[in-house]
Amino acid sequence: MGHKYVYLFTEGNAKMRELLGGKGANLAEMSVIGLPVPQGFTVTTEACTKYYEDGKKINDEIRAEIDEYVVKMEEINGKKFGDMENPLLVSVRSGARASMPGMMDTILNLGLNEDVVRTIAAKSGNPRWAWDCYRRFIQMFSDVVMEVEKRTFEDLIDKMKKEKGVTFDTELDAADLERLAGQFKEAYKAAIGSEFPTDPKEQLYAAIEAVFRSWDNPRANVYRRDNDIPYSWGTAVNVMPMVFGNMGDDSGTGVAFTRDPATGEKHLMGEFLLNAQGEDVVAGIRTPMPIAKLQELMPEVYDQFVGVCSTLENHYRDMQDMEFTVENRKLYMLQTRNGKRTAQAALKIACDLVDEGMINEKEAVLMIEPRNLDSLLHPTFDAAALKAATPIGKGLGASPGAACGKIVLSAEDAKAAVDADPKAKVILVRRETSPEDIEGMKAAQGILTVFGGMTSHAAVVARGMGTCCVSGCGDITMHEAERCFDLGGKTYREGDYISLDGSTGNIYAGQIPTVDASIAGEFGRVMAWADKYRRLQVRTNADTPRDAAKALELGAQGIGLTRTEHMFFEGDRIAAFREMICSDTVEDRVKALAKIEPMQQGDFEGIYEAMQGNPVTIRLLDPPLHEFVPTTEEDIKLLADAQGKTVAQIKDIIASLHEFNPMMGHRGCRLAVTYPEIAQMQTRAIIKAALAVNARHSDWQIVPEIMIPLVGEVKELKYVKDVVVKTADEVINEAGKDLNYKVGTMIEIPRAALTADEIAKEAEFFSFGTNDLTQMTFGFSRDDAGKFLGAYYDKKIYENDPFAKVDQVGVGKLVKMAAQLGRQTRPDIHLGVCGEHGGDPSSVEFFHQVGLDYVSCSPFRVPIARLAAAQAAIKYEEVDKKAQAQAEFRETVEAVKAGAKEAASTAAEVAGKVASVVSEVAKASAAGIKAGVDAAKKAYNDNKENK
Ligand code: PEP
Ligand code: MG
Repeated sequence: MGHKYVYLFTEGNAKMRELLGGKGANLAEMSVIGLPVPQGFTVTTEACTKYYEDGKKINDEIRAEIDEYVVKMEEINGKKFGDMENPLLVSVRSGARASMPGMMDTILNLGLNEDVVRTIAAKSGNPRWAWDCYRRFIQMFSDVVMEVEKRTFEDLIDKMKKEKGVTFDTELDAADLERLAGQFKEAYKAAIGSEFPTDPKEQLYAAIEAVFRSWDNPRANVYRRDNDIPYSWGTAVNVMPMVFGNMGDDSGTGVAFTRDPATGEKHLMGEFLLNAQGEDVVAGIRTPMPIAKLQELMPEVYDQFVGVCSTLENHYRDMQDMEFTVENRKLYMLQTRNGKRTAQAALKIACDLVDEGMINEKEAVLMIEPRNLDSLLHPTFDAAALKAATPIGKGLGASPGAACGKIVLSAEDAKAAVDADPKAKVILVRRETSPEDIEGMKAAQGILTVFGGMTSHAAVVARGMGTCCVSGCGDITMHEAERCFDLGGKTYREGDYISLDGSTGNIYAGQIPTVDASIAGEFGRVMAWADKYRRLQVRTNADTPRDAAKALELGAQGIGLTRTEHMFFEGDRIAAFREMICSDTVEDRVKALAKIEPMQQGDFEGIYEAMQGNPVTIRLLDPPLHEFVPTTEEDIKLLADAQGKTVAQIKDIIASLHEFNPMMGHRGCRLAVTYPEIAQMQTRAIIKAALAVNARHSDWQIVPEIMIPLVGEVKELKYVKDVVVKTADEVINEAGKDLNYKVGTMIEIPRAALTADEIAKEAEFFSFGTNDLTQMTFGFSRDDAGKFLGAYYDKKIYENDPFAKVDQVGVGKLVKMAAQLGRQTRPDIHLGVCGEHGGDPSSVEFFHQVGLDYVSCSPFRVPIARLAAAQAAIKYEEVDKKAQAQAEFRETVEAVKAGAKEAASTAAEVAGKVASVVSEVAKASAAGIKAGVDAAKKAYNDNKENK
């Protein structure tokens, strides 16, 4: 037998979701446990993959197997495709391994043609129903399978209703619907150029192909990217005999959840439509009644359904989302799956299930989607208002939350608006942001940029602050001079309201009301379970005491990265910093730096205080200096005056700082190599701050971790480290105190990863800067990649943004290798990651597997990382145990070997010693004997002489 591509529902089970998709596996499981499921078959996800491999064709082998299963389905159901006595109609639905609600296609009532319609009309005595099914089928098939404009059919229905003078579809009678079906077929022919297919088999193949094709539709591709679902999985197709909810008032269709998906409350929630088919509920054409109403209308069906719900919940030990149909008072289950839910509901359901004894703590931890926690921590849009709104554009969902406010086009305006009215709500719209914009970014409710990806300045800083940000909306055309921008064919002016969704990247015109974040009581409980099981530590990237305090509140165990450069823009320190950059001599530079030092020390004290004795890693200055120079004439003049230089001289200095490729230019540790004074000043501030804070808190022992960025060669690390160590030791000695500190490096240049064994000789810790490491490994700019990544997604070259989800194959390989090499040289080296990937769940899982000690992420991602780390630890518990056992075994073997070697060498030594003792003894005794002999000889001779 060849490969099996088709399974009857009775041949599968819930464990086969990889092959049968979620829907197929659950239909199989429901069939196996005896629930009423119309019996059909599933075409596997492998058939979908094969369809794509074969150049988008269902090959003959799979076609033959489908034919075989159609016959089996006909036999089981006692109905036949196209039969004049007992015709079979089916639904054809997609079903991927992970549920992708509404992303792919469904076709109902397949198998109909004029003859079959007449047969079922006569048999049921319900011609209206029969023609209604037919016109629905033509409409759906044309739209989904043949991509004929939906509107064509909707217009024809509207025309018919107008002619008849009625408002609702339900008011059209059998004759109207028959005429409508005729009109639909003509419209089909006009659009496609051939007759509407009448052969059910032909219809079936086309529908299956359409479902396979829908795996690759744009909305499915976007959904997959947002939800980490690999393209390679493919979708299965479920072919199921139709049951009819539109048979009259003893029939209907509905959807229900075993618990409230919004709050998690334990009660049945759902909706039901009498005399309708599934898509009527979804399409919202008619208003459904609450499920409780079914109890009044069909009590026995309701009771049976309630029984099914509890069977399913107990069976799956999770909240279920079900679709069902009642045909002439008989209940059929069409689908069940673990229901999608809000984060708040997810936490409540998990806790309740633990309390009900249905699941254990680990299962509860695994049940919660880490990404969803975002919505607990940030404001969100009012759900109803959002549903009613249409986006005017889309960028990257760079920092979650919902924001609404008046457009401002410069950071100064944002700040001025909020200074004038602290309640003012503004959205800062920029081509891109730079460190100079920091104060405006802080003031804004939300940030929207035209350029920049997930690790652009705007994205990183906004995430750190917990501010909503949509980055890289390339469809915007900025007109700064006219104080407006164009998007989606419209112009938006300063002062107009816009709304941003930082999770989806959607941009809306006008004001959409927002709802504040609320952390439910169960949050702490689930997080405590997560902390119990995770191995990875979770630190935070924080540049200010406020961010640090927030992160601590959210469970951070320390700071993994403080980017010191963000502090230089505050208040009057930028002036001193600019003086430093534009100094002609070392002396002038030192003078300017001396002005900054106390401010830096103050910053660091604030951060240490906020972290309450937990570890803090502070990175020396990293970005290229040109980012700090003045850009406006006014600021240039100010600087010129302060330095006693001319405007032209300052402009010359600024021009000299220009670099063609600043990201690979004069930045990172290269700044400390060229200007050691900067590293000295920062080291002094770091150490002095630690001494001061330790003196204030006798129970804290702050051990500052000084991090040197952008190292690629061990000698440059050693050079900067020597500067740091000399300076730090001087400060400590001067203070006459004891203070431990560590010096480590970022691994963010491929060469550093490749030579990590060398680098580890000088570094006490490594922190992987996966933002730069990604940029430099791929060789594309983290700020500009957004412009072309779209084409790479379309062409399936990349499935994800490598700046958001770590590229395990390439960048990950470097991380793994560097970790191993580092440990080889320095077994106790501390290893972490502080790139943006530290807050991405799938990347966290990878860092767990690689065996890093911690991940560090922006404050609002800390809970996500904690949960993701726990999930990784639970998921890999067995693997980790085995690895641990193997490592222990290897250690034991090594120890035994070493012991044996030692024993052998001891034995050899002993043997050697024994031998030498023996030889000494022998020598001695030989000497003794000789002496004795000599003495004896002498005595004999004496004696002889004396005789
Ligand atoms: C990195 O490169 O991953 C990193 C954390 O540093 P930055 O983003 O500041 O370059
Ligand atoms: Mg970096």
